[in-house]
Amino acid sequence: MQENRSTCPYCGVGCGVIIQSDGDTITGVRGDPHHPANFGRLCTKGSTLHLTASRPVTLQTRLLQPQLRPQRGQAAHPIDWDAALNTAAQRFAATIDRHGPDAVGFYLSGQLLTEDYYVFNKLAKGLIGTNNIDTNSRLCMSSAVAGYKATLGADAPPACYDDLAHAQCLFIAGSNTAWAHPIVFRRIEDARAANPAMKIIVADPRRTDTAAMADLFLPLLPGSDVMLFNAMLHVMLREGWVDQGYIARHTSGFADLQAVVQDCTPERAAAVCGLPPQDIATAARWFAGVEGIAEGGPRRPTLSLYCQGLNQSTSGTAKNAALIHLHLACGQIGQPGAGPFSLTGQPNAMGGREVGGLANLLPAHRDMANPDHRAEVARLWGVESVPARSGKTAVEMFQAAADGEIKALWIACTNPAQSLPDQTTVRRALQRAEFVVVQEAFATTATAQYADLLLPATTWGEKTGTVTNSERRISRVRAAVAAPGGARHDWQIALALAQRLERHLRPGQPTLFPYTGDTAQACAEAIWNEHRETTRGRDLDITGLTWAALEADGPQQWPYPSGARAGRARLYADGVFPTPDGRARFVPAAWQPLSEPPSARYPFSLTTGRLRDQWHGMSRTGTLGQLFGHASEPALQMHPQDLPRLQLAAGDLAHVTSARGSIIAPVQADDTLAPGQVFMAMHWGGEYLGGRSSMGRPLAGVNALTTPAFCPGSKQPELKHAAVKVLKA
Ligand code: SF4
Repeated sequence: MQENRSTCPYCGVGCGVIIQSDGDTITGVRGDPHHPANFGRLCTKGSTLHLTASRPVTLQTRLLQPQLRPQRGQAAHPIDWDAALNTAAQRFAATIDRHGPDAVGFYLSGQLLTEDYYVFNKLAKGLIGTNNIDTNSRLCMSSAVAGYKATLGADAPPACYDDLAHAQCLFIAGSNTAWAHPIVFRRIEDARAANPAMKIIVADPRRTDTAAMADLFLPLLPGSDVMLFNAMLHVMLREGWVDQGYIARHTSGFADLQAVVQDCTPERAAAVCGLPPQDIATAARWFAGVEGIAEGGPRRPTLSLYCQGLNQSTSGTAKNAALIHLHLACGQIGQPGAGPFSLTGQPNAMGGREVGGLANLLPAHRDMANPDHRAEVARLWGVESVPARSGKTAVEMFQAAADGEIKALWIACTNPAQSLPDQTTVRRALQRAEFVVVQEAFATTATAQYADLLLPATTWGEKTGTVTNSERRISRVRAAVAAPGGARHDWQIALALAQRLERHLRPGQPTLFPYTGDTAQACAEAIWNEHRETTRGRDLDITGLTWAALEADGPQQWPYPSGARAGRARLYADGVFPTPDGRARFVPAAWQPLSEPPSARYPFSLTTGRLRDQWHGMSRTGTLGQLFGHASEPALQMHPQDLPRLQLAAGDLAHVTSARGSIIAPVQADDTLAPGQVFMAMHWGGEYLGGRSSMGRPLAGVNALTTPAFCPGSKQPELKHAAVKVLKA
C-alpha cells in the first residue's frame, strides 16, 4: 500500500488527508495527524473520499475523454485531445477576431488549485486581454473580500484556528459551522470543554446544530445583520465599552460611524431584527469582553466566525464591515483569541483570490482599477498592458451571455446550471452562447448537458498543486494515482488553449507560458514559482515558500517572505494596517432592507444552505449511498404552524414559486425555523426534484427560485433570501 499526503477537496477548513492506494486505485483515506488544520480528524465527507474515487464510481460518473456535440440537441461524440483543443482554440480565436476579447468569458471554481487558477487568469487577462474571468467564489467569499479591503485594507483574514482555543467569547454569525465546517466545529467543542466559561453567541435565522451550542442564540430575521451589529455598537458606546485608545491610535472614520449608529437603539433594532432588546445588549456586553476585568486590564478576547449568512446578501459588504467595526471599536483584533475570521466555503477560494482570479482583481491582491498595479502585472507577465475595464462578475457574465454580448463561454470545475441564482436566465445564457466549453471531472453535471465541447479533467487524488484554507494556510495537494482515461490536469488544459491562442494572437513572439519540466509536478511547480514571484513585497508575500519548504516543514500560513522560517499566525498585532495611513477604517453603512422582502403575493422568506454530508451539486458526494443517511431526499422545511394553514401535511408535495421560477418539493415540518420562513438545501438539482424540461434536461433545483440581485460592493448575489409562495401540488 502507498500513502500520499494531500488535502481534502471539500470545504475551506482545508484538512490534511493521507490517501492510501495500491498504485492504480485509491483504496483508503485517513486524516493527516500532522496537518495543523485537523490533526488527523476528518468529517463524514472527508473520511469517505476514497469511496467516491473507487473504480466503479469513476467509470460510471467520470468524463473520460473529450466529446464534441456536432449540433445542439444532438448527442456528443468522442474526439481526440488535439482535435478538441484545436476546435476550442479556433472557435475562441474567431470570436475574439469578430467581436473583440470581451466577447469571451471564463467561469472557474474555488475548487481549482492555485496553479490552475494562475494559468487561466494569465490566459484571460494577459494573453486575450479580457477581464471576463470570474469564479463561483463570487457566490461564496466576495463580500468577505470587500469587507476586509474596505476596513482593514487587504483581503487577509487576520485570525487563525488556534484562536479558537484562546477566545473567551465566540460570536458566530451566518454560519452553521457544525455542518458546513465540521472540523472547525470539533475545535470549538474542544475549546468549550477546556474552558466552560467561554461564551458562545450564534446569530442565525435558523436554530441550527451550531445554535444548539450557544449560550445566547439570536434568531434574527433574514437580512437584518447590519442593524444588529450597529445596535451592538450603539450599546457599547452608550455603556462606555469601546476602546477609545485603540480607536484613536489605529483607526479612522469613527465619528461618521457614531453618527450612523446613534439611532440604532436596541429597541429600534428589536423591531427590525425580531430580537429582544435585552439580548442585543447582552451580545454587546459579551462581545466587548469587559465583564469582570480589572480597570485598565486586558479584555476577554472575542473571535467572530462568519460565512454565507453575511456574504450571500445584497448588503454583503456592509454586513462584513459592520461586524469588523465591532472588533475595531473594542480593540478585539490582532491578539490571541480576538479578531474577525471569515470561514471560506470552498477549498481554494482563497488561493484563487491570491492569483487575482476574479473579474476585478489582479495577481497578489492587486487592484485592476489601480494603474500602477496594472503596470506591475504587465511587467511581471511580459505583456504591454492588462485591460483596465472591469470584467463581468458571475451573475453579470451569464446575463451578458443571455443578452448575446458574451458569445463563447469556458466553464471549468463548476456547475452554473445548478449553482447560480435565477436559473431561467442562466440556462438561456447557455443556450444563446455560440460556443460553450465545459472542462469537468464529472459527466453528470447539469451544465455538461449544455456543452458544445466537453473536456475531461482530473480531480482529487489525481492532481498536484497547492490550495489555501480559511486561515491563510497553504497546503500541498498531491496525486496518488494516474489520471483515469484521457483526463488531464486543469492547468494543462488551460495551457494547451493558451499555446494555441498565442500562435494566433502573438505570432512569432516568445511564449508567455514557459512552464516546462519532465513531469506534470515539475510544470506545476514552475507555475507556483511564477506566482510566488508576483507576491514579492505584497501583503501576502510568499517568496520564501518554495515547494521544498512545504515538503520539509508542512503547510504554512502567509505571509512567508524570503528569509522567513515560518508563516505568520495572526495579522495586525502591532495595530498597523495595510492602508495608505496605516489605520484601519470605519466605513459606516446603515441597514438596508432585503432586495425582495416577503409580500402578499410571495409571503414566505426562503433561505438556502448546506447539508452536513453533501457537497455543492453532489457530483461526488451523490455517488455514495451512505452520505444520504443524514438527509435522504430534498425537502422544503417549514414551521409546523404553517403547514395546516396551507392544507399541507408533512411529506406532501408543494409548488414553491418565486418571481423567477417554480419547483416541486416535499414539505417537512421543522421548528428550527420561525413561522413564515422556509429552508431548502442548495445541493439538490432537478434530477432529485423530478421532472424534465421539454429538451429532456433536468429542471433546476432551488436556484430556479433565488434572485440574481447582488451587493453593489462585492457583486455577490443574495442567495440567502428570496420571497416565495408555497401551494399544495
Ligand atoms: Fe474535508 Fe471540510 Fe470535512 Fe475537513 S471539515 S474533512 S476539509 S469537508
